Amino acid sequence: MWEDYVRKVDPYVPGEQPKVSNLIKLNTNENPYPPAPAVVERMKNMDADALKKYPDPTCSVLTDAIAEYYHVDSDRVFVGVGSDDVLAMAFLTFFNGKKPILFPNITYSFYDVWANLYRIPYVQIPLMEDFSVKKEDYYRENDGIVLANPNAPTGANLPLSDIEDILRNNRDSVVIIDEAYADFGGESALPLVDKYDNLLVVQTFSKSRSLAGLRIGFAIGSKKLIKYMQDVKYSFNSYTMNRPSLELGALSIKDRAYFEETVKKVVATREWTKKELKALGFSFADSKTNFIFAKHCSVERDYIFRRLREENILVRAFKGDIVKDYLRISIGTDEEMYTVIETLKKILAEK
Ligand code: PMP
Repeated sequence: MWEDYVRKVDPYVPGEQPKVSNLIKLNTNENPYPPAPAVVERMKNMDADALKKYPDPTCSVLTDAIAEYYHVDSDRVFVGVGSDDVLAMAFLTFFNGKKPILFPNITYSFYDVWANLYRIPYVQIPLMEDFSVKKEDYYRENDGIVLANPNAPTGANLPLSDIEDILRNNRDSVVIIDEAYADFGGESALPLVDKYDNLLVVQTFSKSRSLAGLRIGFAIGSKKLIKYMQDVKYSFNSYTMNRPSLELGALSIKDRAYFEETVKKVVATREWTKKELKALGFSFADSKTNFIFAKHCSVERDYIFRRLREENILVRAFKGDIVKDYLRISIGTDEEMYTVIETLKKILAEK
C-alpha cells in the first residue's frame, strides 16, 4: 500500500564520472584549467578543526564577494550547492501556480525532472530547426519561464534584446535565465535585474571558475525574489553551503584576472575546434559555451561515440528525438582537443 503514496520520479541522469584517470574527459563541460591560484594555496592549509562547527547559514562571505563582483547589494544574491540546487529552490519557490511553466523542448534536461518532482504543470516549446528560440512562442499564458542562455546542450545564444522582449511580455510571472555558460561569450541578462523585479539570473562556479567539484551556484535578482527563495531554503536545509565552499568560493571570485585569462583560453580553443570539426564534416549551432553540440554529415553518432570511447575519449551522447544524432563535446586544453581531432580523423577514415 505505502508504495501508492511514494513520490515517484524519473530522475535526471548526470554525465558519467569515470573512476579511471587515463581518459580525455569531455562529457560534463568541466573546465580543463585549475581553480584560481588563491584557492589552490588555501586548500593546502585549511583548518580541519573548524569543521566541527556549523557553517554560516547566511553564507555572507560568499554572497558578499559575489555581490561586490557584480555591483549589487548582498540581499540580492542567493547561493546554493551548485546552480542545480539554486534552480531546484527557484522552481520550488516560484512555480506554484496552476498554469504551465514554459521551457524549450531541447534544453537542460533537469527542468522537466524538477517540474515532475514538484508536480508543476509545464509545456516544452519546440526550438526552431536551427536550435534558436522564437521569442513570440513565449508570449502566452504561463506561470513561469525558464531559459538556459546560452542553451544547453545546443550551445546557441539568444540575444539580450530577445530576452528583454520576453520579459516585457511576461510581467506577471517569474522568468529564470540559467546562465551556466554565459561567461564563455553569451550575453548575460544581469544588466536587466534592476529593471525587472521578476527576473532571476542563475550562474555557476562549475564551468568558467573551474570549481565543479566544490558545488557553488548563485542567483541574482530583486530583493523580493531573493527573500522568497531564502524563506524556502530555510524551510528545507539552513546549512546548504559547507565551510570550504564558502571560503574557497569567495577567494575564487576575487581573482578576476585569472578568470578572464582561463575563459579566454577556452574560447580560443573552442574556435579552433569549430574550424577543425567543420572540416571533418560536422555541423553545429554556433556555440557560445565551453562545448560544441555536433552532428556528422554521414557517419552515425553512436559509432563515433563508441570508437572515441575505445580511444579513451569520453564525450556525451543524449537520448531523444532530435538530439540522438548529436555528440556534445566539451572544450578541453589545446592538447586534448588536438588529440580529439586527430582521433576523429582516424575514426572517420575507417568508415
Ligand atoms: N544549468 C545548465 C544549463 C547546466 O548545463 C548545468 C550543468 N550540468 C547546470 C545548470 C548545473 O550546474 P552546477 O549544478 O554544477 O552549477
